[in-house]
Order: sequence, then structure tokens, then C-alpha cells
Amino acid sequence: MDAGRVVIVGGGAIGSAVAAFLRQADLGREVVVIERDPTYRQASSALSASSIRRQFFQPVNMAIGAYGYAFLKEAAHRHLAVDGELPEIGLRDGGYLFLAPPAAEPTMRAVHALQRAEGVQVALLEPDALRARFPWLSTEGIALGSLGLAEEGWFDGYGLLQAFRKRAIADGARFVHGEATGFVRDGERVTGVELGDGSRVPCDALVVAAGPWSGQVGLKLGIDIPVRGRRRSVFVLDTPEPLEPCPLLIDPSGFWLRPEGRYYLSGMSPLADEPDPDDLPLEVDHDSFEERLWPALAERIPSLERLKVMSSWAGYYEMNTVDHNGLVGRWPGFINLYAATGFSGHGIQQAPAVGRGLAELIVHGAYQSLDLSDLSPVRLVENRPLVEQAVI
Ligand SMILES: Cc1cc2nc3c(=O)[nH]c(=O)nc-3n(C[C@H](O)[C@H](O)[C@H](O)COP(=O)(O)OP(=O)(O)OC[C@H]3O[C@@H](n4cnc5c(N)ncnc54)[C@H](O)[C@@H]3O)c2cc1C
Repeated sequence: MDAGRVVIVGGGAIGSAVAAFLRQADLGREVVVIERDPTYRQASSALSASSIRRQFFQPVNMAIGAYGYAFLKEAAHRHLAVDGELPEIGLRDGGYLFLAPPAAEPTMRAVHALQRAEGVQVALLEPDALRARFPWLSTEGIALGSLGLAEEGWFDGYGLLQAFRKRAIADGARFVHGEATGFVRDGERVTGVELGDGSRVPCDALVVAAGPWSGQVGLKLGIDIPVRGRRRSVFVLDTPEPLEPCPLLIDPSGFWLRPEGRYYLSGMSPLADEPDPDDLPLEVDHDSFEERLWPALAERIPSLERLKVMSSWAGYYEMNTVDHNGLVGRWPGFINLYAATGFSGHGIQQAPAVGRGLAELIVHGAYQSLDLSDLSPVRLVENRPLVEQAVI
């Protein structure tokens, strides 16, 4: 438990959620958020595909999915309204559909059993059933599909970031426009943050929520936070024929696709054996669209041979290079340093659970709503990776 002023580096969805829940948990506590770019031009939270799911490999992520979905469905409106104004979160229900080739079928069946045991509502569909349900889908090379039946969908991630930020400010958190360029340490304690303008903000506890830049912030603290910015491009597509009904489709080739209004969003991650360099400039990778994404889309959904790209953008996944999972909790070797980073492409949906959980850990010394201890960074020093294979 840490008394006094909490300083949070990074005011994206995660940092803003931590700030909002800290003020809610302890209105007497001073909360300062340091954010170097209040326009959020490069922040992942503003460039996200903002989808939420329960279908993960790790039970803690399945539970966070349930918490996040319930929060977005109802609590967001109760807890994040400011002066009677409801936030624009725009949650749409829609299951994820993961497709597996024959080689991946046993794994999909094993994960399905685990998910069912954890209360995830999910169905396995054989190719005939897939075609009957999604007539626009080619099941060539597909042995099985896993379809989420509830508590999955997509929403407005930037709206969620702004709602947490406004709620935190309304409750008395202070957002400072500045860059954390250095830290003052006293042994195992961080006692202050140095800003780019030469000023210093003293702290009793420090939270690193700097998204894809968390590894760089870690260097200034003298620690190795294994989080790197990995560029991902998103394409807004128009289609000659609507795909109805359309879930959030995850193809074995690595692409994902989901509806967005009358259009569709799609993107593709590198496969495990392909290069995925750190911190590339945030420019859309049009070559990979032509060479990889479009052919893969047209193979799975033949009508997309005639798609039209309406627009595109690029953002960073804040990739935890060790095990592709969030690093949430007290940093090993420190008394008052906490992390909330490394969510590897599933962080915006985890903002409500992580914000609340970390606030509880800081204020009460233990998790109360949802046990997030599996995500503790202690696993890094104990060499116990918590590998999340369902990273899209
Ligand atoms: C293309 C794409 C698709 C995605 N799809 C999904 C999805 O479908 N579902 C999902 O759950 N997640 C998805 N994600 C991931 C999700 O968006 C992120 O996990 C989440 O937004 C991370 O939030 P954050 O607050 O940690 O980081 P950010 O939003 O990046 O915020 C970090 C902030 O820290 C600030 N900062 C950094 N360094 C400093 C410093 N030294 N001093 C002061 N401020 C600093 C930055 O300016 C930034 O505003 C996607 C991401 C991308 C890019």
C-alpha cells in the first residue's frame, strides 16, 4: 500500500483509467498524470481497432474480457458520466470467429474445453456449419472454427480514453502536459519525475503506463521493461457485397476483419517466423496490403477480390516481447514503482479491469474486484512466462 501522491507516466486509456479508479478508490489521494501529447496523435488508444473478446488462451485474460465487456455495457455509463453527460463508447455486440487449419484443430479443441470451463460462451463449428452461417466465407483449408456467442464485440476506444480522462479530471486528477525525461531514485524508491522543461514532480508512487514507449521510460528508470512499439496497419474497406452476418474474423494467414458501420476494418500481423522490427515510423505498410493482406482476404472471402480501400492508418502495438501479455503490478526490486503496460494488441479492452485493479493494489495493497496477480511483472525475474498465444 502506498500513501500520498501517485504520478502516472502516460495518459492513454490505461493511464487515464488508473487515474480515474485511483480517485474513485481514494478521493483524498493526489493523482498526477504526465502526458506529453494531449492530442494522442500516436497513442495506441487513438489508433486501435478497439475490439473486445473472451476467447484467449490465458484464464486471466478470459476473466478480464468478461469484466471489460460488463463495464462497457453498463458500468461505463454509470461510472464515466460527467455532469450527467454519458460517454460515447459505442459498444457493438459481435463474436470473434477464429479459424483453424487441420494442424491447429487439436489446439483449438483443447482451448475450447478450457474456455468452457472458465464460463466463456463459445461454439465450435465444422466447415459445413461455418458455410451455412457465413455464406460468403470460403472454408478451403479450414478444419474448425471457434465462434464467440456472447460478451465479445467492438467499441470506440478513443471515446473510452476520453471518458476515463474526463472522469479522472472531474474527480480531481491533474493532467500535466509534459514529457517524463528522467527520474529521481532513492534506492528501491522512486521519489520524483523530471520533465522536459526542467521541472520536477515529486511522487510517493510511480506508474509506468507509457504504452509502446514503456521500454524507453524503463531505460530512464534503469530497468528493462521488455515492451517495444510494433507497427500495425489498419485498412478501411468497402466491399461490393455486404458480408452478412459478419463476426470479427481471425484467419490462419494472420489477417483479421470486422465490420465498422457500412465498411470493414482489416489488418494483418506478421507470422511468428517473419520479421517484426521495433519502432518503425508510423507509415501505413501499403506493400504488405498488396502482397499479403489483399490476396489472403480474397482467398477467404472471394467477393473481396473487388474490395476498395477507403482509408488506412498505422499504430503501435505495445508488444511485451517476452510473453505477449500485460505487465501489471509492482515492479520487482522497487517499493513504489508499478507497471501497466505490454498488452500486446489487447490493451484497450483491458483498460477498465487494469485501471481498477492497479488502483486497488496501490490503495489497498491487494486486488479486490478481479485478481490480476498472474500479470505481475515478478514473472519476468522468476522466468515464468505467461504466454498468450491468441495474439492477433
Ligand atoms: C492497429 C491497432 C489495433 C489494435 N486493436 C486492438 C483491439 O482490437 N483490442 C484491444 O484491446 N487492443 C487493441 N490494440 C491495442 C490497444 O490499442 C493498446 O493496448 C492500448 O491502447 C494501450 O493503451 P496505453 O494507454 O497503454 O497506451 P497509449 O494509448 O499509447 O498511451 C501511452 C501514452 O503515453 C504517453 N507517453 C509515452 N512516453 C511518455 C513520456 N516519457 N512522458 C509523457 N508521456 C509519455 C504517450 O504520448 C501516450 O499518449 C490495438 C492497437 C493498434 C495499434
